[in-house]
Amino acid sequence: FGQKVVLITGCSSGIGLRIAVTLARDEKKRYHVIATMRDLKKKDKLVEAAGDAYGKTLMLLPLDVCSDESVRQCIDNVKDRHIDILINNAGVGLLGPLESISIEEMKRVFETNFFGVVRMIKEVMPDMKKRRSGHIVVMSSVMGLQGVVFNDVYTASKFAMEGFCESMAVQLMKFNIRLSMIEPGPVHTEFETKMMEDVAKMEYPGADADTVRYFKDVYLPSSIDIFEAMGQTPEDIANCTKKVIE
Ligand code: NDP
Repeated sequence: FGQKVVLITGCSSGIGLRIAVTLARDEKKRYHVIATMRDLKKKDKLVEAAGDAYGKTLMLLPLDVCSDESVRQCIDNVKDRHIDILINNAGVGLLGPLESISIEEMKRVFETNFFGVVRMIKEVMPDMKKRRSGHIVVMSSVMGLQGVVFNDVYTASKFAMEGFCESMAVQLMKFNIRLSMIEPGPVHTEFETKMMEDVAKMEYPGADADTVRYFKDVYLPSSIDIFEAMGQTPEDIANCTKKVIE
């Protein structure tokens, strides 16, 4: 009943940062947290929030989920490549009418939100299978369950991940490896801030006028209301994640 090794992706801000801190500061010290981020220069916020857990129950490693090499190196740096719990949190959004989005931008979203998760699972799965134990958690979204206007590519990336994970879960079950998906609604993070900035700058070249009107006059005001009334905090999602892995 020693500490469980938990590796989390995308810990420079938002939900990932808060999950890392919550688990590292667990009162029973049940977790040894490997908090990863693609740019360690962004570590200050996490280190400050972790307080005295930093260097004890929380350590940092660089990891870009879009790079095969970075993923391999990161897992190689973990003692015996042994990870009990993998939390796939890193993700990016993309908002706008299809006419204004390049294929390159769409690929970046899939590289992160879909292939990023696939890469991580592929890398940790052999050791988990050998030990016949492990838990993989994936941060999906309500948009992994329902399509949303002008969020086509982000939604598609989360749907793809949901399909992949449902299929994998069945195969991992016989090795006693659990796979859980968390599907948050709106959460107040930099993700939300960036989305609102993107909306303010958004142009609609070639987009259908009725759809633009629906988006601006109906969808946006109602989603801002939903955000204000029901928006969750990163702490809420971190506490939920902790319950899922307990
Ligand atoms: P943030 O933008 O605050 O955090 C996203 C994190 O992902 C950052 O740490 C970012 O790092 C990291 N990241 C992006 N690309 C990569 C990459 N290639 N390799 C490693 N890390 C990367 O957003 P949230 O905390 O809100 O989002 C976390 C997850 O929750 C995402 O998967 C998102 O889809 C999901 N989610 C968010 C909701 C919300 O309303 N906020 C609702 C539902 C789901 P960097 O600082 O380097 O960019």
